[in-house]
Amino acid sequence: MHLFKTNADLQTFLAQKRQNGLRIGFAPTMGALHQGHLTLVEESQKENDITVCSIFVNPTQFNDKADLEKYPRPIAHDIHLLESVGCSVLYLPEAEEVYPADLQVFSFDLKGLDKTMEGAQRPGHFAGVVQVVHRLLDIVQPDALYMGQKDFQQYTIIRAMLRHLQSPIRLVRVPIIREADGLAMSSRNVRLSPEGRQKAAFISKTLFNAQQNAKTLSLNEVRSAALRDFEQYGLTDVDYLEFANGDTLQPVQSFQDADYIVLCTVVRIDGVRLLDNVILQE
Ligand code: AMP
Repeated sequence: MHLFKTNADLQTFLAQKRQNGLRIGFAPTMGALHQGHLTLVEESQKENDITVCSIFVNPTQFNDKADLEKYPRPIAHDIHLLESVGCSVLYLPEAEEVYPADLQVFSFDLKGLDKTMEGAQRPGHFAGVVQVVHRLLDIVQPDALYMGQKDFQQYTIIRAMLRHLQSPIRLVRVPIIREADGLAMSSRNVRLSPEGRQKAAFISKTLFNAQQNAKTLSLNEVRSAALRDFEQYGLTDVDYLEFANGDTLQPVQSFQDADYIVLCTVVRIDGVRLLDNVILQE
């Protein structure tokens, strides 16, 4: 695996590959890698000649500085994992490479995509995500970009950004990779107590039940059943349980309201915010 820390070195390498007609796939991450991240790399490898994974803990998307500081950075282990799946390139920049002093901040009208769900809970978060992904795409210039369904709102906002820019970059949505008991993989899962970790499996159980119920029940009935499930499983700290239009991210009231509907939730266990979602119709 090639490891580049500067834009200049990365770009010299990629320019030559591009000149040779090779296709480049890109999986941006913040490190503390697990199988979810590695699946982005593996999906890219299937469809491209070169796969670039970046690890950059982006300060502009953290509204809580303490959260930024305590974000795990097990870089030697991350490198080992990327090598184990045969990733071609790791881009590991310092903040000065991503945000030089004279860089113009990119933003565009998100038309409310950033106001619901995670956006409502974390003001400024998606402006930071847009800024960093736009900048990283400018540096890497990939043919295809790989993002996880796990962060559904993030994926949708980046899709809107690429449409806004009329970008030729193909965006690939990678399904949520889960632990054996169904818990969506996340670098935050290690912060759960043993009891919390056991309870956490019931988040996806509730969502999968909802997915089944959605085949026969009304949206209100599915919602009530899901809230009952949460309560029964002892998941009492629910930040949100939202039936969202998959394009606009606005809440829907019935299954007739949109073709594309996603059920998104955040449940707190041991003070850890655990995100999950299922697609109900598309
Ligand atoms: P992060 O390092 O948390 O910023 O995540 C980097 C990328 O990995 C994002 O596109 C996430 O959606 C994706 N990702 C994180 N966890 C998972 C998972 N369990 N399954 C699939 N993709 C994931």
